Amino acid sequence: MKRALVIGVTGQDGAYLTRLLLDKGYSVFGLKRSSSLSNTERLRYLGIDGQVEFLEGDVTDQESILRALHAAEPEEVYNLAAQSSVGVSWQQPVLTAHVTGAGVITVLESIRKVNPAIRFYQASTSEMFGDSAEPVQSEITSFRPRNPYAVAKLLAHWATVNYRESFGLFACAGILFTHESPIRGLAFVTRKITHGVARIKRGLASKLLLGNLAARRDWGFAGDYVEAMWLMLQVREPKDYVVATGRTASIEEFCRLAFAHAGLDWCEHVEVDESLMRPADIRTQCGNAARAKMDLGWEPRTELERLVAMMVDADLARVSGDG
Ligand code: NAP
Repeated sequence: MKRALVIGVTGQDGAYLTRLLLDKGYSVFGLKRSSSLSNTERLRYLGIDGQVEFLEGDVTDQESILRALHAAEPEEVYNLAAQSSVGVSWQQPVLTAHVTGAGVITVLESIRKVNPAIRFYQASTSEMFGDSAEPVQSEITSFRPRNPYAVAKLLAHWATVNYRESFGLFACAGILFTHESPIRGLAFVTRKITHGVARIKRGLASKLLLGNLAARRDWGFAGDYVEAMWLMLQVREPKDYVVATGRTASIEEFCRLAFAHAGLDWCEHVEVDESLMRPADIRTQCGNAARAKMDLGWEPRTELERLVAMMVDADLARVSGDG
């Protein structure tokens, strides 16, 4: 039985990846921060919270990472831990740099010390491309980060590349474009929309306040994207891969789909609130995942329409108290 350590197991991707690994017969260890409240709802939502062996730790604390590696003895380590919200990164840039950026060096150094044969996955992001001059971004597109989250992720990304090239670690970075699911955090615009739709539909609210509706994103389903993470660690040679759908839609279009799925007209409920505009926004993002298709045989399976429907249905059930 293969053993994997998932750092950031309580997050959206941590939950979907854990389910995938369990389905493949792995023994899964999940590193989670110690907290006074249990934060394993996402794993519970997928019905797998009882199947993970939890280890306590924090990517800013090397001792705890070393302890986790000794306890889990993993063949594969997936680092999904991050302060992952762009919005929050403007309010807490230093914390974001420590956790999302330097935290990854803590993990890489620990792997080098404990067992350099461990295969390592780093959760890089399309946010690193920033407002790219290229209409479609791939592994060879230049990075131009536009927010503190992306700056921190770039540190983590280059650390991963350097540990691979300098120390020979099997370290891969997945440059994932935005991916969503019914267990996406409420701080993210897609979930804010689907949760807002559910509240409006159930008569608990009448308006939804949003920022820049024109921003275009390449949105995929988290359940599809975690398969790419796993595939990256199964091939012979470690490389970095863009993971994306290649289709973009604006936030306005996402709204239209989400409200329509609940039988509502978005124009009657959505209002733009200038205070929600970001200091610097990215106009459009679109990824080219040709390398992932060619080397890993990976392709997205979930259309945006189905993803939106899945998210709205889950929020309608939650708001009604049966989700
Ligand atoms: P998420 O839901 O915000 O999960 C982040 C995870 O990191 C949570 O388990 C969180 O634990 C953990 N964490 C935060 N600070 C930590 C620390 N100091 N030490 C250890 N763990 C810590 O994010 P996600 O959407 O699953 O994304 C997973 C990863 O992919 C993140 O690194 C994100 O930046 C990256 N990424 C995401 C997307 C996307 O669209 N979802 C796209 C590209 C890249 P708590 O539960 O205790 O907070």
